[in-house]
Amino acid sequence: MTKSKTTVDEHGQIRDRRGEWRSGRPVWLDPIFSRPWDIKAILRGIFGFPSMLYPWFTIFMVLVCISYFYFTPDLAVMRNFGWSWVAEIAARNFVLITVWNGAFHLWFIKYRMQGRKKKYNGNWMATNSSIFLFKDQVYDNIFWSYSGVLFWTAYEAGMWMLIANDMIPMISISEHPVYFCFLMLAVQYWRNFHFYWIHRLIHWKPLYDKVHYLHHKNVNVGPWSGMAMHPVEHFLYFSCMLIHIVIPSHPLHMMLNGFQTALGPAISHCGFDEIVFGDEVALMNDRYMHYLHHRFHNVNYGEGTVPLDKWFGSLHNGTPEADAHFRALHSARVAGQTEEK
Ligand SMILES: [Zn+2]
Ligand SMILES: [Zn+2]
Repeated sequence: MTKSKTTVDEHGQIRDRRGEWRSGRPVWLDPIFSRPWDIKAILRGIFGFPSMLYPWFTIFMVLVCISYFYFTPDLAVMRNFGWSWVAEIAARNFVLITVWNGAFHLWFIKYRMQGRKKKYNGNWMATNSSIFLFKDQVYDNIFWSYSGVLFWTAYEAGMWMLIANDMIPMISISEHPVYFCFLMLAVQYWRNFHFYWIHRLIHWKPLYDKVHYLHHKNVNVGPWSGMAMHPVEHFLYFSCMLIHIVIPSHPLHMMLNGFQTALGPAISHCGFDEIVFGDEVALMNDRYMHYLHHRFHNVNYGEGTVPLDKWFGSLHNGTPEADAHFRALHSARVAGQTEEK
């Protein structure tokens, strides 16, 4: 009996026998790191829509500024440790992640505002599944994401104490406006560089088996899956905020670093290639690179912003050629292991 390899779904999208849909485009890689330089592509990558600046960076900056000016305790108070001011930061961060992740969840998963249009995986979030806490993927993911907020808050509070006590190099916007803007944009490159290395570390088998397996229970990802990590992974993941101990920064840089680290995963794990607002309007999301990591495990440890995977040979760019390449590598590895035995 031959099994049909593909099906056409309710949106006219072709899905393979696992129910997966692909955009047909190779995954996005930052043109800044491509050679020869394509100036048009670089400018589009910085100023286009979507791009490095719009919309996510701009939205994060708005959230950071509102939080900095209205929902952060006075610097003088933060000179000495106190549970009350730490609780204030924690409360702000819990509200932020609940509203942010919750909005993506309501749009994509709960109310299925765009159905499965542009959804990579054909399935919805798992329920009645014993591999997840409370037998429910979404509740499991929310639980671990909230645990991550404690780490985000701990790093942020620690950094605020160092800032308040003049223990780390700080800059002012008026004295160094160009450097301030440059560093604002550089934060996401640093974060992606840092993430690649800690991600490779936790794919080391002993750490994978004890720590990172928890994140990888989510093969089919949703907005709350991004921060669903083991506490050891949270500890490593948020350590990117420590860069401000050595790099002269403004508190806004430190806050942006934390906000992007905590809230960014909802975007990269939403599981949809585009946010579709109607027949004519859609916002490209293009997070297939990390989706493929959840699908195949040993490819795409980083993201397209800093294409370390390309340089180290672990890039799966989403094309059938890449499928064939990694399938052949896998078969060779299995054959080698069988021979060793
Ligand atoms: Zn992930
Ligand atoms: Zn991983």
